[in-house]
Amino acid sequence: MVDFSRKFDVLVIGGGNAALCAAIGARRLGASVLVLEGAPKFYRGGNTRHTRNMRCAHDAATDILTGPYTEEEFFEDLLRVTGGQTDEELARHMIKESKDILNWIVEQGVRWQPSLGGTLSLGRTNSFFLGGGRAMLNALYRTAEALGVEVLYDAEVVDLEIDNGMFLSATLKQGDGRVGAKASTIKASTLVAAAGGFEANIEWLKQYWGEAADNFLIRGTPYNRGSILKLLLEKGVQEVGDPTQCHAVAIDARAPKFDGGIITRHDSVVFGIVVNKHAARFYDEGEDIWPKRYAIWGRLVAAQPDQIAYIIFDSTVVTSFMPTLFPPIGGQSIAELAAKLELDPAALEKTVADFNAAVRPGTFDHTILDDCRTEGIAPPKTHWARRIETPPYLAYPVRPGITFTYLGTRVNKETRMLMKDGKPSANMFAAGEIMAGNVLGKGYAAGMGMTIGSVFGRIAGREAAKNAKN
Ligand SMILES: Cc1cc2nc3c(=O)[nH]c(=O)nc-3n(C[C@H](O)[C@H](O)[C@H](O)COP(=O)(O)OP(=O)(O)OC[C@H]3O[C@@H](n4cnc5c(N)ncnc54)[C@H](O)[C@@H]3O)c2cc1C
Repeated sequence: MVDFSRKFDVLVIGGGNAALCAAIGARRLGASVLVLEGAPKFYRGGNTRHTRNMRCAHDAATDILTGPYTEEEFFEDLLRVTGGQTDEELARHMIKESKDILNWIVEQGVRWQPSLGGTLSLGRTNSFFLGGGRAMLNALYRTAEALGVEVLYDAEVVDLEIDNGMFLSATLKQGDGRVGAKASTIKASTLVAAAGGFEANIEWLKQYWGEAADNFLIRGTPYNRGSILKLLLEKGVQEVGDPTQCHAVAIDARAPKFDGGIITRHDSVVFGIVVNKHAARFYDEGEDIWPKRYAIWGRLVAAQPDQIAYIIFDSTVVTSFMPTLFPPIGGQSIAELAAKLELDPAALEKTVADFNAAVRPGTFDHTILDDCRTEGIAPPKTHWARRIETPPYLAYPVRPGITFTYLGTRVNKETRMLMKDGKPSANMFAAGEIMAGNVLGKGYAAGMGMTIGSVFGRIAGREAAKNAKN
């Protein structure tokens, strides 16, 4: 039973990777730590439950990584995907610290496994969690609890008392309503906000995306509604990032509204063409290697009429990519397939015929930017273009799958939140998605969500513990 009358050294809001890394980090320095997780125990761990891997710099191959990935190369990758929209000092700090995280996270009970293959191409850069994100989280919870971190589930924080940049207390609402008004206020010397982005708050998304947001599917937890982010911004914390920027991929249109996870993501774009509801192609499906392009397809589909699109391919490529939860829809002819997708058969036949006619001969290799390309159509398919001509013809309907948003709280290298007047907060720290926008102005490179959570979570825990002791 949590003693609501005591004052904790460190209060952590959130129950995912960033929160747990902070809680463990703070507890290991002797601080008393309370974690408030808004979700029930079974759903603990937010989006972290769905993860598979983490991107860390390293100077040499490891047991599970095939070669070195230097700090400089990591930074160049980050610059490329963000188009330079990153806080360089913070980003370089994160990358430097990520080297140590590879070992630190293992010391907290997490285990690695060899990289998954297919179109991912991550064997050198990303370490995969043995058993996935859920197993990773279970290890962190086990370690935290063994160290004496207290955890309360079903404990949604609904208000924060902040005076002139200083955190005083949090008000929580428990799902089962057992906690009375007096007991629902928690006091702590320092706060670590690790409560994710606002991706599950459709109304908030609508402020920037309009009615289109009704057609978005949220790949992860329904509990990341951005309530803590909103409170912090309302109470004087400086915001960072563009509210329309997020990580969004194409996921199966038949996926549930929330929590569909990784098994609904389609990695088959490079093997076919993608058309909108008018059966028209709208973007180069072969622009670059898939890990560098998968995260743009959510936004591309979001910009199409009714936010729906269809990946069209033929029977020759069905074993070339990782299968998803949903089987493809098939037809013996393009017209039959179109009818099943409720597309205009003549329009889809023309799009496929035009594409096939534009394909130039080449040697197919999806692991490199090969020479299989189209000529004379717009948009082009610049690599991996092969005719779609062997029935059955197949399709996946896709919608924008929002992974996480980038609008966040501005922090410094200590993860201390900065207030609107530029001054650092006296005792408030942030880690994970809630501050991802400091590093990710736009774009994404696979595995960075967990780097941001682990590195800044660990720092936040350390700094919060030090702050509480002073
Ligand atoms: C399907 C999917 C696959 C992904 N795969 C990867 C991957 O392989 N590698 C990678 O690096 N990233 C991946 N990501 C991104 C990654 O999940 C996130 O970047 C990372 O988990 C964020 O960690 P976090 O601790 O900041 O947030 P989360 O893990 O989402 O935790 C936020 C927590 O805050 C809690 N919370 C929210 N509001 C409140 C409140 N008011 N009061 C109390 N608690 C609250 C939530 O319940 C949740 O526990 C994936 C995301 C998804 C959805």
